Parts: sequence; C-alpha cells; structure tokens
Amino acid sequence: MSELREASDARRGVLFVVSAPSGAGKTTLVRSALERLPDLELSVSFTTRRPRVGEVDGRDYFFVEEGEFVRRLAAGEFVEWASVFDHSYATPRAPLDAAIAAGHDVLLDVDIQGARSIKAAYPRDAVGVFVVPPSLDELEVRLRARGTDGEEQVRRRLERARLELQALAEPGIYDYRVVNRERARAGEDLRSIILAERCRNDRAR
Ligand code: 5GP
Repeated sequence: MSELREASDARRGVLFVVSAPSGAGKTTLVRSALERLPDLELSVSFTTRRPRVGEVDGRDYFFVEEGEFVRRLAAGEFVEWASVFDHSYATPRAPLDAAIAAGHDVLLDVDIQGARSIKAAYPRDAVGVFVVPPSLDELEVRLRARGTDGEEQVRRRLERARLELQALAEPGIYDYRVVNRERARAGEDLRSIILAERCRNDRAR
C-alpha cells in the first residue's frame, strides 16, 4: 500500500521554536499566530517566576516553586532548561513527543539557549525562527516605551539583545528570521513560514 501512504496527508508534527530579544514584539506575534492558526498548540513551559497580571497558570506557564522545579528536572521531565533574568524556565518533553507523533504542530516561545537545545534534541522536527527588531536603536525605543522596566533593566535587556543577535549567525539554530518592522507584515511572515514548513515532503509519514 505504499502508493496510498505516499498520497496520504499524514505527517509528523513540527516544533516551531520562536526566539527574540525582549522588546522585539515576539509575544504579540506568537499570540496572533496562535489565534490565526487554531491547529497550532503552545508549548507551556515551567517557570519559577511569579505570574504577571493577566497570566494564567497552565496556559501561559506552569508557575512552580523552586523545589518542584528541581524535582521535575531531576526526574528528567525537561528537554531543556535555562536561567533567564534570575528565574528558571524549562520545556517539558512529553507534550512535544506526543505532538510530533500525533502530527500536531507546537509553537515554543523560548530563549536562545532553549532554541539551541531543542534543535539539538529534535534535529528533524524543530524549525528555528528568530524575530529581530529593525535595529538596536529601535529596540531601545520600544523597551522604554513599554514602561515596564527601570533604567537598569532596560540596560540589561539591551546588552542581552546584543549578545542574542549574534546567535543568528550560529549555524543550525535559526532557519528563519522575521524582521518585526511592522506588526501585520511580521505576522504574515511567521504564518507563511508555518504553512510552508507543514508542506515539506520530508515530514510525510
Ligand atoms: P518571560 O519571563 O518574559 O515570560 O520570559 C523570559 C524569557 O524566557 C523569554 O525570552 C522566553 O522566551 C524565555 N523562556 C520562556 N520559557 C522558556 C523555556 O521553557 N526555556 C527557555 N530556555 N526559555 C524560556
């Protein structure tokens, strides 16, 4: 029945790993991709940071105490974990394996360390997307306009962004870059990447 299999639409799920320096507009882009592509799931990470206003446990993150985080880490539940701005973050492995096997696509909002690890763990199934601001100057303007950080935080985030932008040149992590100059256009770019990757011949089962 190989003919049937070749003609079938059964395929492995894809892991879309999206990273960006903070202030590049990633959260908005990710939200709009999830709204416009209802068959795309969000990978819900574990974190030790406190929820921000409007964030929901189990939807945005699983908010856990340090002790629980360490227990899960020791039990091998995480495919990767990282310390970002003084808090721990980790991606649970089981939902990713289940999604790939079931042919469901997952969007992961992780930092560069996470993207590197996930690409290494799933070389065949992960696609790296980096969202970049039009320039570092523009990023600074956006970070200040956001008004959520003090001067010291803005400075730290800019310094980190400078380092993170270097990862774009690292081979094997980011397959795509989306320049977020204008939100609607960047959203279309991200959506196009997802739609095209779904059609790749080598994802067929
Ligand atoms: P925030 O605290 O603003 O939600 O996230 C801070 C940073 O942590 C963001 O760059 C976000 O992408 C990253 N992050 C969130 N979850 C994970 C994760 O599970 N693993 C890694 N490596 N980074 C994560």
